[in-house]
Amino acid sequence: MAERINGKWLVGRVGVDAGMVMVGDPCYLSDYGKKSSDGFEWVEGEVEAQKTANEFEYSYSGACAATLSDNSAGELGNGSAVAVSSGYGDGQYPVYAHYNHEGRIERLEVVFVPDEEEEDVEEDDEEEFSCHECDTSLTEDEVIWATADGVLTMNGNPYCDACLPEEKEED
Ligand SMILES: [Zn+2]
Repeated sequence: MAERINGKWLVGRVGVDAGMVMVGDPCYLSDYGKKSSDGFEWVEGEVEAQKTANEFEYSYSGACAATLSDNSAGELGNGSAVAVSSGYGDGQYPVYAHYNHEGRIERLEVVFVPDEEEEDVEEDDEEEFSCHECDTSLTEDEVIWATADGVLTMNGNPYCDACLPEEKEED
């Protein structure tokens, strides 16, 4: 279950054991590693060649080459995925979604190295909310997150129970 932290939603955690995280469309996974002699393993020659060319294939060696490149990141294949080095190494990293007022995800954030503010988040319960309509102040527990159409969603507008807009019927 997603949980709201500092205006964004913790939608999950990604476990890392190879010092890398990849962002990609799951529908391309069947192509992963096809162009590599060993798609799921480090192949020394392929990593070096791709690092030198600064072009990375959609494979484990490609991901390694991208994350060992000058930018510590790179695009794999023709936009099949993006691989990035995960901060200082392995661990479990929180993934946050930022929702717009329509409940669509407008940004995705993976935090490898939290800033101090982020680390204090558990104890720091001082965030205050006020109703979008009547401006009554609300605790986080009292807030109902909804769009202007009354669609309950994990997004920007906090409402008190009394002001919650009714869901508009689609014609
Ligand atoms: Zn209200």
